[in-house]
Amino acid sequence: MASSKRLEKNFQHLAGIGQESSGGFTRLAFSDTDWEAREFVIGLMKQAGLVIRVDAFGNVIGRREGVNPAASVIMTGSHIDSVPHGGNYDGVVGTLGAIEALQCLEEAGEKNYHPIEVVVFMSEESSRFGVATLGSKAFCGKLSREKLDELKDKQGLSLADVLRQRNLSPDNIAEAHYKGGIKSFLEIHIEQGKVLETTQNQLGVVTGIAAPTRLRVMFTGQADHSGATPMNMRQDALTAAAEIILQVEAFANEEAHNAVVGTTGIVKAEPGVMNVIPGKVELGIDIRGIDAPSKQRVVDKLKAEFEAIKKKRGVGIEVVVLSDDTPVKLPDHMVEFLYDICQQSSYKSIRMPSGAGHDAMHIATLADTGMVFIPCRDGISHNPAEHAKIEDITAATEVLTKAIQKLAAKE
Ligand SMILES: [Zn+2]
Repeated sequence: MASSKRLEKNFQHLAGIGQESSGGFTRLAFSDTDWEAREFVIGLMKQAGLVIRVDAFGNVIGRREGVNPAASVIMTGSHIDSVPHGGNYDGVVGTLGAIEALQCLEEAGEKNYHPIEVVVFMSEESSRFGVATLGSKAFCGKLSREKLDELKDKQGLSLADVLRQRNLSPDNIAEAHYKGGIKSFLEIHIEQGKVLETTQNQLGVVTGIAAPTRLRVMFTGQADHSGATPMNMRQDALTAAAEIILQVEAFANEEAHNAVVGTTGIVKAEPGVMNVIPGKVELGIDIRGIDAPSKQRVVDKLKAEFEAIKKKRGVGIEVVVLSDDTPVKLPDHMVEFLYDICQQSSYKSIRMPSGAGHDAMHIATLADTGMVFIPCRDGISHNPAEHAKIEDITAATEVLTKAIQKLAAKE
């Protein structure tokens, strides 16, 4: 059984690292506080009987050998770095939960056919280098040597410099690409939203990890006098943009059953005075979903709408695609496998998408991947007010332990 007491003690210990007077935590990637937290976690992994190795990016991997050392690995883990003034749960739940699960297996003296590994990914948050999930990218062979020089923090230190400071060799980055076979990867994490709390569920089994398509759309009309220009002689960039804003909502609603969400978060109108018809408008549109085709349908409909509005209103519309990432759908059999364990353990749970990105989305390209969410108070994360209940952390750890036991057994 996962021990709430032990989990609580470990959370408290980590809370002492990087805590600020505001109550928040700052453990920026590769900073001294991040490294101190990493040392603590390595100590816990050793106590759980794991054999530690570190890859070229500093990702920590602790291994519990299997009856068949050559069999594919069951892997679980998360991250411990934080955003500035963040909380003590984002990533930490998945790291301490994974170690607790392995501690339980060690205490039970159980034999696992497949080897089991706990991984702590470095630099998950984008706060220091502007790019998220760097450790899991390196792990999947998606982080190049050039990128390490390119990415710089606010002090002008490159990621390569920072790796050297930690006695890691940037030139060996390719070796961080995980070589062995991974049978499955599991990560538990706080939800970072309000769905579980609102629906009063204790656990959420993640069906997919959303990825955004982001568009910057520039509307060009005519900035004429608001009094002297009759309604039929206008090229109002803002009313044209307003039609698009409502269509973003409507098209996303049409795909809501596929968990698509659409947001126009930026509206800038020029010249921004009462007596001039807006001549220039910029919109920032963010479309997300876990199902690539349904997200694409929304984007395609919007593109058709741009053409229609251009003709109808005689305004210019220029579209820049800022990002177009592919969502990750997690395999149905992993979703059902984890959901069944939640049900058998009588934890009230639902299947749900993840709106935020996680290390798991990269590992999903290497292995069958599953994720379990726990609620966080008021849905708040990346904030000193971030909080998760120890009962929920323990419940997710129980589910993780059972899942690992089943997956690590001989088929
Ligand atoms: Zn996280």
